[in-house]
Parts: sequence; C-alpha cells; structure tokens
Amino acid sequence: MSTVPGTTWVDLPTGSPYPLANLPYGVFGDRTGDCRLGVRIGDHVLDLRAAEEADLVSAGGTLRATRLNDFLTLGRPQWTAVRRRLTELLADPRHAPAVRPLLVPVSEISMRLPFAVADYVDFYSCREHAENLGRLFRPGSPPLLPNWTHLPVGYHGRAGTVVPSGTPIIRPSGQRRRPGEDTPSFGPTERLDIEAEVGFVVGAPTAPGTAVSSAALADHVFGVVLVNDWSARDIQAWEYQPLGPFLGKSFATSISPWVVPLEALDAARVAPPAQQPPVLPYLRRHEAWGLELRLEVILNGAVISRPPFAGLYWTPDQQLAHLTVNGAALRAGDLFASGTVSGPERDQRGSLIELAWNGAHPIELPDGSTRVFLADGDVVTITGVATGLDGSPIGLGEVTGTIEPAR
Ligand code: MN
Repeated sequence: MSTVPGTTWVDLPTGSPYPLANLPYGVFGDRTGDCRLGVRIGDHVLDLRAAEEADLVSAGGTLRATRLNDFLTLGRPQWTAVRRRLTELLADPRHAPAVRPLLVPVSEISMRLPFAVADYVDFYSCREHAENLGRLFRPGSPPLLPNWTHLPVGYHGRAGTVVPSGTPIIRPSGQRRRPGEDTPSFGPTERLDIEAEVGFVVGAPTAPGTAVSSAALADHVFGVVLVNDWSARDIQAWEYQPLGPFLGKSFATSISPWVVPLEALDAARVAPPAQQPPVLPYLRRHEAWGLELRLEVILNGAVISRPPFAGLYWTPDQQLAHLTVNGAALRAGDLFASGTVSGPERDQRGSLIELAWNGAHPIELPDGSTRVFLADGDVVTITGVATGLDGSPIGLGEVTGTIEPAR
C-alpha cells in the first residue's frame, strides 16, 4: 500500500500544529502518575516506552527512560533514524493496528519537564532588545557596549530552577534599591518581568577541550523549546555589577513541554541579518540558521507582543560555537536560550520593561487595567509556531506561568 507523503492515519484536528511533519518529544504523566516519553501527533501522544517494548521502534532502550537525556546522548544519526521510523509508523496504515493502542489522548495526560537540565546558558543576542535596554539604562551613551557586535554576550543561569510550563511562579524577594533611596531594602520584587526567548536543547556531548564548529550545530543540538526567563528587574539592577545576573533571574525559568526536533524546522530556516563589523573566524556562519518562528506573548488572555525571532543578530550556530570555544564540554540536557526577542516595533518587544518603557508608558489590557510590571495572579503565556515544508503549521506549543504572591 502506498502512502501520501506528509499524511498520517491518525485523526488530526483541522489545522493542528502537531502534524506528521512536527512530531515533538516530551515526557508525560498518565492518570496513575506513571511517567513516560512520548511523541505528539495531533491531539494524541504515542507512548514511546510501549512502542520500544513492542519492538516497533528501537533506540537502545533509551525510549524507556523517564527523561529524554539518554536518547539525547545518542546523537544525530540515531535521532534521524528514530524520527524516520516514527514517521513511517504514523504514516503507513498497515502499522495502525499495532500503533493505535499506544496512542494516548492529550486530555488524559499532564506534561512534565522533558529533560534533566544539565547546564543552562542565557544569551543576549537580539540587537533591538540590547539597544532598548542600553537606551533605558545608559541614556546619552551608545546603546550597545563595545563587545556586543564581536561576541554573543551570555551568562550561566541556574539549571536546577528550570521548570516546566504550568509551574506557578512565586514572586521572589531580595535586595533592591528603590529610586531616590541611597541604601537597599529587602522585600518582594516590585518589578517582576518576563523575557520571551527560544531555547536550544543539546544532545550529543563533547569531550573537554573540544570547540564545536559553528558548522556542527545540527550534530549537537536536538531541538527547540520556548523559554520564559522570569526576571526581577529591581533585584537585577542592584546586584548585577560587576558580575552579571544572579538572584534576579535564578528563582525560575520556564520552558515549554514539547521539544521540537530541528528537522521539523527545516522549512523555517532563513538568512539571518548581515553582521558588521565582520566576526572572528570561529564565529563565521556556514549555514543559514535564522529561524522564522512566530512568537506571541499573552498576558491574562490578551496578546501584548509578537516578537520576530528571524531577526536575531547572533544565531544558534554562533552561540554554540562561542559557548564551547574555550573547550567547555557539552552534556546531554544542556540548554542555551537566545535572550529576549524584540523587534523594531513597540508591539514586538519581548519584555515588559521594554513594552512599558521602564514604567513611562504603561500598557493597557482589554479589562481596562494597566501594567508596567507583573501583578500577583497574572498569567503569562508565550506561544510559538513555524511553517512546515508543506505549509502546515509546526507548533512549538506554549510556556505558561501564573504569578503567586511572595511567601
Ligand atoms: Mn534572558
């Protein structure tokens, strides 16, 4: 029996962002609390543990784990082989009798953290965002610091507080110096913010002393998640000099539950912005790794921003080359995020500090209320979608969090 490429025998809702061309991986818990790996198709999840136990797909037993890390360690050839096999299982109706019983409706599951986060790095790679913050914090000076166009600026974040979408965000407390005050005080942050970002999930590890070429992104990066880098701006502003972000960021970073494989984003690849001045040889681009991802930031149900990811100045291949150029080894489960994504228009800014211009221009919500930063009870959701080879949507899903009062 022949099959039409791109079609599946699984019943897909019209316009589903999880067609056969997507097949993102995640970890789900069922009604009994049992945790398993799964791959999403439409409104169902294919239970990968059951599929490997039934010899329908083989990945050396890594699909029977409760996190993606062992599978991530396998590397590109195995990732590709498993994706091909899953595509075949879900495309060819001859496999339906064996596979259909392993499909679980998403209404019956809850999503967990998809992988144990090894190290977490956050970059600062969007020119519009960096320039906006430069204008806000260093008025009268050039908006970019001299190093910014020569290297992708970044910092190491806290891997242990990367949480899955849906985890409540407790308002952090800390030291902050209020405007007009000479000394700091302690208390709940008064300037809780979001950062809309895209994260890259590392699979294949490297040995210490190895620099990964910018040509080797696809050998090491398995896929993509959405990231909300929650930020307490008052704590951050007081603590960050001279060593960078610390407690203003480390209380929580949320990620979306579905890791979209890099291959699913093939059709979304675009030429990134030209770079001037020219970059050092180790940062030169070998392939186009701009990605046309359409992001939306939603606050209490209202879209407040649509940041354009394709304009990112430093691309993920350059970020990976930079973060390993000193020989720092990669581990399966490493996560590096893009930095806040902002476009040139006001409604394309990926943080509240930019959207409300540090309090000068509050944003208005449909219920008549205004915001300069987040209030307790606020719900923030970031969504993302790309376009697949056949024009179908490739959903990155969503990352959401509700603000709870300080404890
Ligand atoms: Mn960030």
